[in-house]
Amino acid sequence: MIDRFTALLAERPWLLADGATGSNLFERGLQSGDAPELWNADHPQRIADLQHAFIDAGADIILTNTFGGTRHRLKLHKAESRVGELNERAALIARKEADRAGRVVLVGGSMGPTGEILEPLGPLSAAAAQDAFAEQAVALKRGGADVLWIETMSSVEETEAAIAGARATGLRVVATLSFDTNGRTMMGITPFDLAALHRRNHLAACGSNCGVGPSELVASIVNLATASDAAAILVAKANCGIPQFVDGAIRFNGTSELMAQYACLALDAGARIIGGCCGTTPEHLRVMRRALESHVRGPVPDLATIEAKLGAISSGATAQLRGEMDRQAGAAAGATGRRSTGRRGSRGSAEQLQSILQGFQDTPQQRHSDREPQKDEPCFHDADLKDAEPLGPGDSGR
Ligand SMILES: [Zn+2]
Repeated sequence: MIDRFTALLAERPWLLADGATGSNLFERGLQSGDAPELWNADHPQRIADLQHAFIDAGADIILTNTFGGTRHRLKLHKAESRVGELNERAALIARKEADRAGRVVLVGGSMGPTGEILEPLGPLSAAAAQDAFAEQAVALKRGGADVLWIETMSSVEETEAAIAGARATGLRVVATLSFDTNGRTMMGITPFDLAALHRRNHLAACGSNCGVGPSELVASIVNLATASDAAAILVAKANCGIPQFVDGAIRFNGTSELMAQYACLALDAGARIIGGCCGTTPEHLRVMRRALESHVRGPVPDLATIEAKLGAISSGATAQLRGEMDRQAGAAAGATGRRSTGRRGSRGSAEQLQSILQGFQDTPQQRHSDREPQKDEPCFHDADLKDAEPLGPGDSGR
C-alpha cells in the first residue's frame, strides 16, 4: 500500500509545510530554558492551537513538538524517562488537529539532534544514538505520525543514526540539514554530501531547514537539486529573515512579502515541500500559500535573482552555485565575514572540532542547539532563544 506522504505528493505539484514551533511557542508564553516538549503534557491546547493555526493558514504538513524529544535532550530537563510519553502525546495532539482539517494534512514526527557529538569526534556511539532515536520514533508512530522528520542536522553520522533509528518504525523518513556555515553545515557537510546521503539511505525526501536566512536557503536548494537525482523530493524550510535583537528578545525580520518571494523561488529552485523555520508565523504561512497557488513555476533562480529578491549569499554557497560543490576553499570565510577562525568545514580531527566549537561561541547564526545548551549562548530554534546575544551592526549577513 502506498503511504500517505507519497500519495499526497503524487496529487500535488508542491506541499506547504508548517512554520516555526519554538519561536511561536515563545510568543505563547514559553520561557527561556523551558523544554517545549514538556508542553505536550502541561499545555497541550497551546500546541494544538498553534498547529490548528498552521493548518488554517494552508499547511499540508505539520510537525510535532518534539524537536528536543530524545532522551539526551530531555535529560537536560530531568525528563529523560518521559521520551515515550512526551513524543506520543505530541503526535496525538498533531494527529487530532490534522484529522479535523477537512482535507489531507500529514503529521511529520520531528526529530532534532541529540546535542551530543558522535564518535569518532565525540563520546556518543552511533549505536547509542540510533537507540535513542528509535525510542523517540516508535513513540511518534504510536501517536499517529505519518512520516518521521529529522531536521536541523549538521553531521552525516548523526543524521544516519537518526535514519537508522527511524527505520525501526517502518515509516518513511525525511531528513533536512542546516547549512548555516558558509554553504555548509556546522560540521562541514555540503548539499552535495546530502544528495549522496539521500541516495544511500533511500529517503522519502531531503532538504535544508533553518540556517542563515531565505537567500542562503534557496541557494542550498539550487545546489542540492543540482547534485540530486531528478526524482528526489526536496524540502525547503527557511527562517523568517535574519534574526535581530529587539527589546531583549530575538526577532526575525522577515516580512510576509519576503517569505512569499522565498516560497516561489524555493519552488523554482526545485523544492516540492516548502515551509518556514524559526520566526515563521501562521500569518507568514498564509501569504506563502497564496503566493505558491498563484505562482507559475519559473527557471531555476541564479545568484543575481536570489540576491536581488532575498538578500546576499555567503561566499561558500556562491562557490557552490558556480559548480565548486566539493571544494574545501568554499568554506574559508563565514557567511557574515565576522568569523575569522574555525568552522572551516572539513571533517576529521579533534583540533578541527575544537575550532568548530570555538566558532560556535561567537556565532549568532546558530539557530538550534545541537549539543547541551549553555547559558548566554545563542540558539534560536528552541528554548534558549531569549538568551541570545545581541547582533551587532553588519551581522545581518548582508
Ligand atoms: Zn529554525
